[in-house]
Amino acid sequence: IVQMKGMNKYFGKLHVLKDIDLTVAKGEVVVIIGASGSGKSTLIRCVNGLEEFESGHLTVDGHPLAPKSGNPKSLAEIRKEVGMVFQQFNLFPHLTVKKNIMLAPKKVKDTSETVAAATAERLLNRVGIGNQADKFPSQLSGGQQQRVAIARALAMEPRLMLFDEPTSALDPEMIGEVLDVMRELAKEGMTMMVVTHEMGFAREVADRVIYIHEGQIVEQGKPDDVFDNPQNERTQAFLSRVL
Ligand code: ATP
Ligand code: MG
Repeated sequence: IVQMKGMNKYFGKLHVLKDIDLTVAKGEVVVIIGASGSGKSTLIRCVNGLEEFESGHLTVDGHPLAPKSGNPKSLAEIRKEVGMVFQQFNLFPHLTVKKNIMLAPKKVKDTSETVAAATAERLLNRVGIGNQADKFPSQLSGGQQQRVAIARALAMEPRLMLFDEPTSALDPEMIGEVLDVMRELAKEGMTMMVVTHEMGFAREVADRVIYIHEGQIVEQGKPDDVFDNPQNERTQAFLSRVL
């Protein structure tokens, strides 16, 4: 569903992504790990066009994105098909939980009020907070807010979900409830690209772990192989710090 070939990205002079080749298959769960500043966020932000890149090829669900200017038509399609969940929940504070979830389907997909409301209720039940629909985001815990953010992304019926450190801003006791929702999604066959420092989750849920060092993929493989028997010395050093 995602094909990156020879992708390069700069911020000014800073070469942030270097010749990235990466393919993600439908239904695959890819976890991206690496040190701070290695380019993990930039990589997944390129996938839904939040960042432009300077050279290479990127196709998302059959929609090609060109370097620089991108491709406005593809971009619009990709934004409809790709859900993203950030470290900060980015919920609309003035809307109830339910309205937060209803907004995009109504605006982007012309979904009717009734259908959008029913979908929102179904998704809130699915992420375990069906009873919080009429609250405002500020009245929820961080873990609950992040589950709303996931439900909001799912309301667009995405073909691919991107997660950028979805549990990093959470108190420790709330991390599990968000990871549980992600684990369920993975089980149901959702294609996912996940940046996380939760190595237990990576080991358990990932089909493939990718280690990025200074903008390059230096190692990738099945979680057990990468974690137990890393080949690259950079990966070894990183894992010895975080495991
Ligand atoms: P972290 O684990 O801290 O989130 P990361 O692996 O997600 O790090 P990125 O956010 O992708 O790293 O950043 C990669 C590099 O690009 C860093 O050196 C960062 O300072 C730089 N960078 C990121 N965003 C911008 C920007 N908008 N303008 C300029 N430089 C940027
Ligand atoms: Mg980041």
